[in-house]
Amino acid sequence: MTARMLDAIRSSLVSLRMRRALEELDAIVRQLERGQLGAIEAIHNLLTAEAARREDRRVAMALKTCRLAPIKTLEGFDFSFQPSLDRDRIMALAELDFIRRHETVHLLGPPGTGKSHLACALGIRAVKAGKRVYRTTLVELVESLAQAAREGRLVSKLRFYARISLLIVDEIGYLPVSEGGANLFFQLVSARYEKAAMILTSNRGFGEWGEVFGDPVVATALLDRLLHHAVVIPIEGSSYRLRQHSDLMPEHVRTNATIIPPAPKPQKGATMTDN
Ligand code: ADP
Ligand code: MG
Repeated sequence: MTARMLDAIRSSLVSLRMRRALEELDAIVRQLERGQLGAIEAIHNLLTAEAARREDRRVAMALKTCRLAPIKTLEGFDFSFQPSLDRDRIMALAELDFIRRHETVHLLGPPGTGKSHLACALGIRAVKAGKRVYRTTLVELVESLAQAAREGRLVSKLRFYARISLLIVDEIGYLPVSEGGANLFFQLVSARYEKAAMILTSNRGFGEWGEVFGDPVVATALLDRLLHHAVVIPIEGSSYRLRQHSDLMPEHVRTNATIIPPAPKPQKGATMTDN
């Protein structure tokens, strides 16, 4: 009787595509038989195992489609390396209220200071919370809008981006925006204005946006919207990439060749001192 019922449970789990529950079934039944589990607990364990697998798969799929690879986490971010950065502000952003409030987060700083890392880590938090996230660079974004415009699909492309709850636009300022690109980006920003959140990363100050977008008038209109419900996070430290590089160097080289510009060479005849 029990065996027949177990077979029926197994085939139900197969037709419901509950693979993890199926895998766990025998172990849970054994625990039940030994009196280590109550019936309610057994049902609970079976269902939570399946729910956990589905959640893992959902997150894995979402992480692929929102292009957040390589995966970076807040846990993997060394705040002590970046003392100018307020850890509490980043951890507050990780609570994701800025998404609910449709704000724009600006991460500003020189190359290698962790802007993309933090943007990705916040994106992952959002994915785990069930938000629609998409990461792109400014150049890729403008190119995708330009292509859509050429093919007469601009409206549906803008609609696609408008449906994303958190749009991460990385690398504003490294490469100049192509002709007409400022205009396309402006249309996107207008479509999302006060409706959805963004994280923008840039190595350039806002004063340089006219140059970045090749059009001071559009740049001003962009900033008008992007600085209206905004959180601006400047990072003023040195490059983590170069630090890693210097870690690989032998000690005697490392002490002389670092991120910090070398001290001026002593003039001929000057006294040499130990350091
Ligand atoms: P940016 O986008 O500002 O140029 P990235 O976020 O790409 O810099 O950081 C460069 C590399 O250094 C990445 O691999 C990133 O994970 C790592 N990194 C940067 N800052 C930190 C940090 N404070 N702790 C740990 N890893 C960091
Ligand atoms: Mg970057």
